[in-house]
Amino acid sequence: MGIIIDGKKLAQKIRTNLKIECEELKKKGINPKLAVILVGNDGASKVYVKNKSIACQEIGIEYEEYLLNEDINQEELINLIEKLNKQKDIHGILLQSPIPTHLDINQAFEAISPKKDVDGFNPINVGKLSLNQDTFVSCTPYGIMKMFEEYNIKLEGKNVTIIGRSNIVGKPLLQCCINKNATVTMCHSKTNNLEQYTKNADILIAAMGKAKFIKENMVKDGVVVIDVGINRGQDGKLTGDVDFENVEKKASYITPVPGGVGPMTIAILMNNVIKAAKQFNI
Ligand code: NDP
Repeated sequence: MGIIIDGKKLAQKIRTNLKIECEELKKKGINPKLAVILVGNDGASKVYVKNKSIACQEIGIEYEEYLLNEDINQEELINLIEKLNKQKDIHGILLQSPIPTHLDINQAFEAISPKKDVDGFNPINVGKLSLNQDTFVSCTPYGIMKMFEEYNIKLEGKNVTIIGRSNIVGKPLLQCCINKNATVTMCHSKTNNLEQYTKNADILIAAMGKAKFIKENMVKDGVVVIDVGINRGQDGKLTGDVDFENVEKKASYITPVPGGVGPMTIAILMNNVIKAAKQFNI
């Protein structure tokens, strides 16, 4: 039976510490503030944005939301980002994805000032991560690194297999693990014989968005399993990419869904806003 990595508890610990840091910044006259841009009416995005606003409120971070119509054009979006870049009272800018397909999200991420890029999606910050320099690291991968730290799970010399190569999870995670001296294998939908790589993993990270895809016969005894996937079943219940009940028996550590990686993502976003506020005023 594996040890369950309690992301909810760790996220709460981080949020409590951030609240104290935020109060200290306010005493110095610095009011950390996050601006969130939401384009269109995506239901899931609205829920994510709501959760971020609640976390800001709890910590004491000021929160400002910009709701843009589905049919805005690229220029209007970039103009808003540039306006927020110039505003001295705003420390972090977040563009909630997805955005409508007629808009160029990469250009929008690039427009966000690297100093306010709390999601770590600006190419300058992505480049700094690959150079192992201090930067804003994308929230989900950084949250996973914090879990390893909290549970004293060392990466050096370990075989890490990541399934999923997205820009927001898989790729930055690959960099984070390499920076910690792991040997990393990156798998995706075109990988042949996936099991060969999952069975070889000391640490397996599933970020593919396929419910219960990872079965017990795909992992070795003692594996550390990080389940990033969030899949909503027809009954409304959330499941991860890992068949938790069965894989847990073989794992040394495992994250649950919900209550694992998910809560960490928002806690790290808050961490990045406080970091931005501190750096902005140096
Ligand atoms: P994407 O859809 O952008 O990427 C999925 C990746 O998984 C792709 O690289 C894809 O390969 C790969 N993949 C899909 N099917 C297979 C397969 N059968 N075998 C091997 N690889 C496969 O997803 P995201 O990275 O945005 O998210 C992944 C999951 O994590 C989702 O469930 C999402 O909801 C969740 N998530 C959770 C977060 C959290 O806070 N817990 C935060 C962000 C995401 P290819 O590149 O070849 O298409």
